[in-house]
Amino acid sequence: MPAQIGVTGLAVMGANLARNFARNGYTVALHNRSVAKTDALLAAHGDEGDFIRTETLAELVENLETPRRVLIMVKAGGPVDSVIDSLVPLLDEGDIIIDAGNSNFVDTRRREADLAEKGLHFVGVGVSGGEEGALLGPSIMPGGSKESYAALGPMLEKISAHVDGEPCCAWVSTDGAGHFVKMVHNGIEYADMQVIGEAYNLLRTGAGLEPAAQAKIFEEWNKGELASFLIEITAEVLGHVDAKTGKPLVDVIVDSAGQKGTGRWTVQSGLDLGSPISAIAESVFARGLSSQRDQRAIGQEVLQGHEVAVDLGENFVEDVRQALFASKLVSYAQGLDMLTSAGKEYNWELKLDEIASLWRAGCIIRAELLKDITKAYAADEKPANLLFAPAFAEAIGAAVPAWRRVIATAVQLGVPVPVFSSSLAYYDGLRSKRLPAALTQGLRDLFGAHTYSRIDVEGSFHTQWSGDKTEIEAEDTH
Ligand code: NDP
Repeated sequence: MPAQIGVTGLAVMGANLARNFARNGYTVALHNRSVAKTDALLAAHGDEGDFIRTETLAELVENLETPRRVLIMVKAGGPVDSVIDSLVPLLDEGDIIIDAGNSNFVDTRRREADLAEKGLHFVGVGVSGGEEGALLGPSIMPGGSKESYAALGPMLEKISAHVDGEPCCAWVSTDGAGHFVKMVHNGIEYADMQVIGEAYNLLRTGAGLEPAAQAKIFEEWNKGELASFLIEITAEVLGHVDAKTGKPLVDVIVDSAGQKGTGRWTVQSGLDLGSPISAIAESVFARGLSSQRDQRAIGQEVLQGHEVAVDLGENFVEDVRQALFASKLVSYAQGLDMLTSAGKEYNWELKLDEIASLWRAGCIIRAELLKDITKAYAADEKPANLLFAPAFAEAIGAAVPAWRRVIATAVQLGVPVPVFSSSLAYYDGLRSKRLPAALTQGLRDLFGAHTYSRIDVEGSFHTQWSGDKTEIEAEDTH
């Protein structure tokens, strides 16, 4: 019997996705550049379902039913192009190439356009959930043509995570939309992890709470509105004791955070779109600063802190929880707002309720909160910003006093809280009647004749700063 899907690239992610397909009753043809990985997979898990072993891409393709579905799960970047180049001469019109790795959406748009000219479907699929998700049910964000989704979607839906019987997989929109949505998911993930880190740091430095005590606090927090995978695993990591030293593991891990690139891409893309994703950007920068260990070593010696002792108040732990919650809401709001901007820029019909629902399970940012976000965007009247949805406006409003107190305390203590504070600045920026952007416009007009709009009359205006300082109406050509 021919296979319904072929998987090429059998490192941890590809192998687990292949097993997931097989465990769900599909026949899966297997291929890897070096045959050893194929054989290792078959030796360890060959009895989990119907697999077909192949040694070359030509053999992989020969073993597939038509239209052929070939899923690529190799290292992102050049290797994806090289596998596509090898596959194209082997395929027929209407066949589907799927890239389920963490590819940059710009590459996906290019590949989709190139392959469409050759009559092939190219589907960039965002997959989140790490190794375990790939095996047991990830959150899946497919892009590509709607037509290809008809032939591929049901299989992806079957292997995805489910919530109340609904798959965490749905067609997102055309070309690179799936990878874009996955990228923004990762951007939110960066911010989510950073705000957790800021809460931990404040509780440690400010309140002197040891990791084991904090593990209990995070466990408790995981029962309320913060309930999420990341809070759950924070409790696990903080509660873990290093076998070698007997110290909390978190104390023996080097405090320099790595990154593979999706957070950086989110920020780059946010800049291209003019989308104010300040919390996400700060979280990427925070990782960058953590990695500058040489400079940090000097900074510890030469920079003065002038910290001020502060009375934390009786409810400091609860205040930190609320600040964490409010900041987390901002990072989701910014990520979703960026999706709205991207939809307009790239002509994607992104449905934010569906996207939020894809993230309810299987992925790293899965959280109870996403159920309410899904509801907020499913309402007849879609909020222009998540924070304007009545339930969220109320929830974040209730957290504001604690949020302000915590940031003020952090500043006094000299504890860096870049995402707590930039999130509050975003919130205050959104609700400000007047922003200093009016002054910015005045300055731009003075040094560069960039013109400004007036609040009382339509049109563009310029003040003749170097002349008699009268105002003239101007064409806004700058
Ligand atoms: P890697 O990213 O480590 O890539 C290894 C695989 O790529 C091997 O199968 C390797 O073959 C193959 N490969 C590398 N170069 C080439 C080439 N030029 N031609 C053909 N094959 C090549 O594997 P992972 O499983 O960790 O990740 C796969 C993809 O999934 C990546 O895009 C990654 O970013 C993404 N990913 C996603 C995660 C998620 O949570 N969604 C988590 C981790 C990864 P060989 O064995 O012959 O060397």
